Amino acid sequence: MNSQPIKIVTILGARPQFIKAAAVSNALSQHPNIQEIIIHTGQHFDRNMSQLFFEEMHLPVPNYQLDIHGLPHGALTGRMMEGIESVLLDEKPDWVLVYGDTDSTLAGALAARKLHIPVAHVEAGLRSFNEAMPEEINRIVTDRISDLLFCPSETSVKHLHDEGRLPKGSRIVVCGDVMKDASKRFSPLMKAPSTSLPDRYILCTFHRTENIDNPQILRQLLSALKQVCETLPVVCPLHPHTRKSMEGIGYAVSESPIRFIDPVGYLEMLYLLSHSSLVMTDSGGLQKEAYYMGKHCVTLRNETEWTELVDHGYNCLAGTDPERIQQDVAKMLDAPAEFPVELYGDGHAAEIIARTIARTI
Ligand code: UDP
Repeated sequence: MNSQPIKIVTILGARPQFIKAAAVSNALSQHPNIQEIIIHTGQHFDRNMSQLFFEEMHLPVPNYQLDIHGLPHGALTGRMMEGIESVLLDEKPDWVLVYGDTDSTLAGALAARKLHIPVAHVEAGLRSFNEAMPEEINRIVTDRISDLLFCPSETSVKHLHDEGRLPKGSRIVVCGDVMKDASKRFSPLMKAPSTSLPDRYILCTFHRTENIDNPQILRQLLSALKQVCETLPVVCPLHPHTRKSMEGIGYAVSESPIRFIDPVGYLEMLYLLSHSSLVMTDSGGLQKEAYYMGKHCVTLRNETEWTELVDHGYNCLAGTDPERIQQDVAKMLDAPAEFPVELYGDGHAAEIIARTIARTI
């Protein structure tokens, strides 16, 4: 038996990755033969988009902080690759572990692959089939060069088989969704945000490039949300990119009927979710969390990677058309709060991932 621990370099950079890593890093730490080194690329850097998550969820402090942010996709990915490559050359890990679909994911996978270091991808096989999304490109390329592909569902496995372009010797493991693990583990610790909340409200987040970079769509979406406020108050933790785009079109946040608040930590988000009447979002993570917390969701996009939620009627795709959004909000507010089908594993995805990696040597 090999007495050397398996060394993993984990690449993190964006908020949802901190939440996923909170589940997986904890499971990895239970294996004495695994040593985890964390690189934080710096993609998200505000305290309430980054450090707060490390503190609240007791994530290990990153071993390397690259502090790379605020650049266009190409420059961001290139600079990250350069920084990650230099760490990989020093650390010589057995695995590089990447999460999801951000530029940090792509940079980590590419840097590792070019150094012939095996890549493990958590959330493999997800597809929106909309290649205008930067995330879709990141997913496709990352899967294409990954050796261990951790899939949340059979649908994601099917996408990989349909594409048929995985590296020789790669392995697909269906493990479920690590965000389910995180929501189960941290729900008992949820805490009320410092801001006062209406008795009943809709929780809303939006930050996808296709919704905020086009001023016409952004205005349309804001107008739709304003209309929804006539039915129920809308509470919206505001992503920094969305705030910037709203400033760009001269939108007066303080005069809006939408209750915009600063981004909150994960424990407060779980509270906001559990006390909401409905979720509206263009976030991938939140669509699932709504379901995990027994809430319906209206998705502000025309497609989703988490199609099972739509198939079972737990989520609906409203896009950005105000009339359609109004109709879907009314429909989902009336829908019975029943979610009988268990999707995306049983909340032990992180253990499966850690066990699989621990057995690779
Ligand atoms: N989230 C949070 N605070 C907020 C908004 C979102 O903790 O103010 C969490 C949310 O619960 C989910 C994750 O961040 O777990 C989703 O991240 P995001 O929407 O940035 O990314 P996506 O899921 O779209 O990749």
